[in-house]
Amino acid sequence: MSEAERRFRDRTPRSLAAFDQYSQTTPGGVAKGAYYHAPYPITIERADGCHLWDVDGNRYVDFVGHHTGQVLGHNHPAVMAAVRSQLDKGVAVGAPMGNEKELCAELCRRVSSLERVRFCNSGTEATLHAIRLARAFTGRPKIAKFEGCYHGSHDGVEISVAPPLEAAGPGDAPLPYAQAIGMAPHAIDDVLVLPLGDMKAAEALIATNADQLAAVIFEPKAGTLDLPPDISSHVRDMTSRHGVLMIYDEIVAFRLARGGAQEHFGIRPDLTTYGKVVGGGFPVGAFGGRADLMDQFDPRAGKGIGQSGTYSANPVTTAAGLAMLHALTPEAYAHLDRLGGRLREGLNLAFREQKLPAVAAGIGSLFAIYLTPGGVAPRDYRSGLALDRSGIHDTFLALANAGYYLPFPLSMCAISLPMGDEEIDGLIDATIDAVAASAGNFSPHDA
Ligand code: PLP
Repeated sequence: MSEAERRFRDRTPRSLAAFDQYSQTTPGGVAKGAYYHAPYPITIERADGCHLWDVDGNRYVDFVGHHTGQVLGHNHPAVMAAVRSQLDKGVAVGAPMGNEKELCAELCRRVSSLERVRFCNSGTEATLHAIRLARAFTGRPKIAKFEGCYHGSHDGVEISVAPPLEAAGPGDAPLPYAQAIGMAPHAIDDVLVLPLGDMKAAEALIATNADQLAAVIFEPKAGTLDLPPDISSHVRDMTSRHGVLMIYDEIVAFRLARGGAQEHFGIRPDLTTYGKVVGGGFPVGAFGGRADLMDQFDPRAGKGIGQSGTYSANPVTTAAGLAMLHALTPEAYAHLDRLGGRLREGLNLAFREQKLPAVAAGIGSLFAIYLTPGGVAPRDYRSGLALDRSGIHDTFLALANAGYYLPFPLSMCAISLPMGDEEIDGLIDATIDAVAASAGNFSPHDA
């Protein structure tokens, strides 16, 4: 056992007891896969601002932010007030209560490509409905997605998210790979997989398959890969040139700007999918875009495309989401972006100066820490396979031991609004110590 794991176990005996107990009634001791990391997850007792406290009384600065959704931190007063006020009026009534209309209007005000919006309960549902709409509108059977990109956990998109190289096919024409055992066998037939690092090859594939393609779905930052800044415009141009709809997945990326990633990158997709911050910390998905597309859902038109869901557009989620968006002012984005820049620059400077085999990447308030002897962040899925993963677990545990809670394996980390220079500089120092301690596994890069 490593020193980092020994310390982790010493500090978290009650989390271990909770995990052992829970393992008797749920597979792997976790209520959902994302909660798991070895040797066992920390059980959290309470959260406030940018901090979490676990059941052993340890305090952490929270860079998980509920899978990036808690951009305002925990218990933001405006969100809590909106939720409390809604609880007094009714939790779920099976009829419109008005919040959903206001949230819809706010989204349309912020994002110029949104002419109509519908709500659901998760990002997964949002991409499912957007894809179904694209198929219904165009009458074409397939969609295209980029290798290595995640768009939720339904059969339509869980293709080639992290394929084993031996099953992934040629770099310029990747083969579709069903990511989960148990998916419908035909799922791979409906998806064309595009290479993220070769836009010429991607366009050739789109051109060849255009008459079969309903849409290309694209995530503007592909997790936290180091993408060229013009890649969103490339995808928009390619899809327009070949008459294929573009679905822009902003389920995480909406936190980048008031109008989301599409404002940041200056593009206008046909459809956009949302989740996370749109629900203010409550379960949510949303999707929207061109009126002629979205109006296919108009029940009065009788086009046969349905979209509903028991808790879709529920009044608590929509109240919280509206309050969260109102709190995301231009000043808030400026603060988040400044902290993100400070963190990445500070880490990369220290990595270079101390010749540590690591690099920080990301955009705005999202970041990843990669351990790599070359000191270069991956630009697509296949270059990410070359990362050295041997030290990442100890680095993650050492950061937890130092009071910094990051997602494992240190990708898709998120800064929240209550943080300041103190939290950022503290994380830089703790990361340098943690990487240095686990760097015995690497040879220093040349920089
Ligand atoms: N798309 C992207 C880019 C995501 O990161 C996620 C989840 O993290 C999803 C879709 C799916 O969203 P959900 O987990 O709400 O189903």
